[in-house]
Amino acid sequence: MTSPSADSSTQTALPLALVTGASRGLGAAIAKRLARAGYRVAINYASNEAKAAELKSEIESAGGRAELCRFNVAESSEVDTALELLTKSHGPIEVLVANAGITIDSLLMRLKDEDLDRTLDVDLKGAIYCVRAASRGMMKSRKGSVILISSVVGEMGNAGQSAYAAAKAGLIGFGKSVARELASRNIRCNIVAPGYIQTDMTGALTEAQKDAILRNIPLGTFGSPDDISEAVAFLASPAARYITGQVLGVNGGMYI
Ligand code: NAP
Repeated sequence: MTSPSADSSTQTALPLALVTGASRGLGAAIAKRLARAGYRVAINYASNEAKAAELKSEIESAGGRAELCRFNVAESSEVDTALELLTKSHGPIEVLVANAGITIDSLLMRLKDEDLDRTLDVDLKGAIYCVRAASRGMMKSRKGSVILISSVVGEMGNAGQSAYAAAKAGLIGFGKSVARELASRNIRCNIVAPGYIQTDMTGALTEAQKDAILRNIPLGTFGSPDDISEAVAFLASPAARYITGQVLGVNGGMYI
């Protein structure tokens, strides 16, 4: 992968990075970081247009370039159409960060079919649809970096999150397979597995749940979205040119 150009006079030539689920939380931090690294960032979101537009303005005020790109990652035809339009306007996707995700917590005995389907559709199949669609252009241009946002829960399991853990563990097997399949085309694929990071998703935890989690984090604190965006920016960059098929845990030592 070549180094992105930060030259704003050649804006049409800026390399393109697509971040799914970028309206909020980790995705928004990743989008800002990649914009700072010189990418034109496509901000995907499901419904929160206001937040996505706010992020686009923030990136542009800081001198970066961003596009809004609304689609539901769980609908393969929407993904295909959106990525086709995006690449027609801005060239092939050079960096794809498959970050969009949801959690629907439930004990296994109470897990509803529709919640299992929804979790797998968004968290696992959604990422697969996006990588499949983005890889077409990456293969033609013979370069690309894919980063899948998994979770420490996919590595170590968690009571009450079996469906989410299955989806997040599935991303690891998927990402390693993509790394093997596309390496000959100079496309790398790595997985970032965040621990507990302060976002809307973890904001829903009770104080008692937070205390219990903190007792199991050797570094003694939750992570910040920037801890994740820095790891993603590294894996996307030429500094990681010889790294593919790896799981990078960013979890304060929670899973070693
Ligand atoms: P968040 O704050 O809840 O944000 C979720 C993002 O995903 C939003 O931008 C949302 O868009 C988007 N999204 C949800 N469903 C979508 C769909 N069907 N199609 C397109 N976009 C969709 O989540 P977060 O905490 O930043 O987590 C981001 C990723 O990191 C997730 O994959 C999560 O599993 C993973 N993760 C998070 C933590 C953590 O501690 N926060 C830990 C481990 C892993 P709208 O705004 O439009 O709804």
